[in-house]
Amino acid sequence: LIVAVTAIIIISIFVYFALRFGRIQKKTNDELIKLNDQLYELATTDSMTQLFNRRHFIESAQRQITQMQRTNVSGAMLMIDIDDFKKVNDTFGHAVGDEVIAKVATILKANSREYDLVGRVGGEEYAMLLSPCEFDKANQIAERLRNKAEKLSISHQKNTIKITISIGLTMIKKEDKDIDRAIHRADMSLYKAKKSGKNKVVSD
Ligand code: GH3
Ligand code: MG
Ligand code: MG
Repeated sequence: LIVAVTAIIIISIFVYFALRFGRIQKKTNDELIKLNDQLYELATTDSMTQLFNRRHFIESAQRQITQMQRTNVSGAMLMIDIDDFKKVNDTFGHAVGDEVIAKVATILKANSREYDLVGRVGGEEYAMLLSPCEFDKANQIAERLRNKAEKLSISHQKNTIKITISIGLTMIKKEDKDIDRAIHRADMSLYKAKKSGKNKVVSD
């Protein structure tokens, strides 16, 4: 009887610790998964706007373009820049400037579609890869973004802040093996939009 009771006690202690260890391990695992998610979010998301950060946008767009070319899907690259943004900072302060950057991001996100990619690729610069998307549709979307930005009003103390954006648009071409080429063309169009008076969409 003593042997049996001792065996049961030892087994019970063993089972107790085994269960406890299992629970700790599960908790540690759950925490690791959560931590991993947080790390991924930090590495890929711009904290001010919740858009993709520059690196993640470029990596995702590169992958998307490769896929688009394999499946013969059309698409457009937009480069978007807030006009005379330095004035907003100089007049109302950097914190208000940050708020404007976030508000414009909200417009871009709200007017993008399921498969579009939206990123903040510079201080007050954003990029979008629209796909699947033909030229007319891309132009229409860009024009809508420009229009929504123009209608945006941001209240600050007794002031109402108004802004505009300029957009450079280029279609993804067969020979765009490298995303940099499309970004460069969109940048050139953006430059033309700035040179020709801002608050407009220019395509090549
Ligand atoms: P343009 O119409 O030619 O684009 O003129 P701009 O004034 O918008 O362009 P410029 O490149 O001269 O100025 C951009 C300004 O954006 C300068 C920089 O201080 C500001 N900026 C960059 N990143 C941030 C940011 O994260 N927050 C704020 N508030 N300002 C930023
Ligand atoms: Mg600007
Ligand atoms: Mg700029």
